[in-house]
Amino acid sequence: MSCAIVTGSARGIGAAIALRLAKDGFDIAFNDISEKAFEDNDIVDRVRALGVQAEVFVCDVSRFDKCEEMVKAVRERFGSIDVLVNNAGITRDNLMARMTEADYDLVISVNQKSVFNMMKIVTDVMRKQRHGHIINLASVVGVYGNPGQVNYSASKAAIIGMTKTVAKELGSRNITCNAVAPGFIHTPMTDKLTEEQRNAMLSRIAMKRYGEPEEIAGVVSFLASEDSSYVTGQVIEIAGGLSI
Ligand code: NAP
Repeated sequence: MSCAIVTGSARGIGAAIALRLAKDGFDIAFNDISEKAFEDNDIVDRVRALGVQAEVFVCDVSRFDKCEEMVKAVRERFGSIDVLVNNAGITRDNLMARMTEADYDLVISVNQKSVFNMMKIVTDVMRKQRHGHIINLASVVGVYGNPGQVNYSASKAAIIGMTKTVAKELGSRNITCNAVAPGFIHTPMTDKLTEEQRNAMLSRIAMKRYGEPEEIAGVVSFLASEDSSYVTGQVIEIAGGLSI
């Protein structure tokens, strides 16, 4: 059986990705920053009910040493690591003039440094296996920018650069590395936005609706499958036509 690690998968897009990859037949290594996040829902039970193995590995992915411990534990539990989905992410929005240095550093650390941590450690395993798929969660704001998100947009733009670089470094080892760039998706992260911010976004979306986590999970499923075996270094926007 193949194994997929999905970071930040207790809820939102990460939980939808874990469920979809389980339906595709992957064993799932769940991750989140706290055990409690999994107590609030039944995502692990829903995945196990599909007949695959699932385990929770609690770890702050912004910490390199903790990521090393987690990946070691995942290998001991599942053997191989075939798919890595770097999904964990946070926002600390404010106009740059009002943003604190601490909020800038925190978002870069959780959203961007975590992707370095996990890709560096997991590709050590994937190189030896001579196969693997990495999918990173970027965002349309990493491409186009967004007022109030100088920290978040910087982290997501960096993820795009990192994705293309790792695709070039590891393509010859049969490891693909791609990113998805969601637009506005219904999750606890976007529930925090004001009605005014939501309506402003909606007016710019060609499909005139927000996306659902399952619509991100479907594209991730493709990028984790052998149907995308010759796709690497790409950024796929999933935004209902936000940018056209
Ligand atoms: P979400 O509902 O807030 O879920 C993110 C998960 O990551 C939470 O369970 C969170 O745990 C966890 N997490 C936070 N910091 C972590 C850490 N240091 N280590 C491990 N786990 C951590 O977010 P989402 O909307 O599903 O977003 C998922 C990804 O898609 C993010 O990378 C986000 O930037 C990206 N994205 C989302 C949208 C959107 O419209 N929703 C658009 C573009 C891109 P806690 O709850 O305990 O903090």
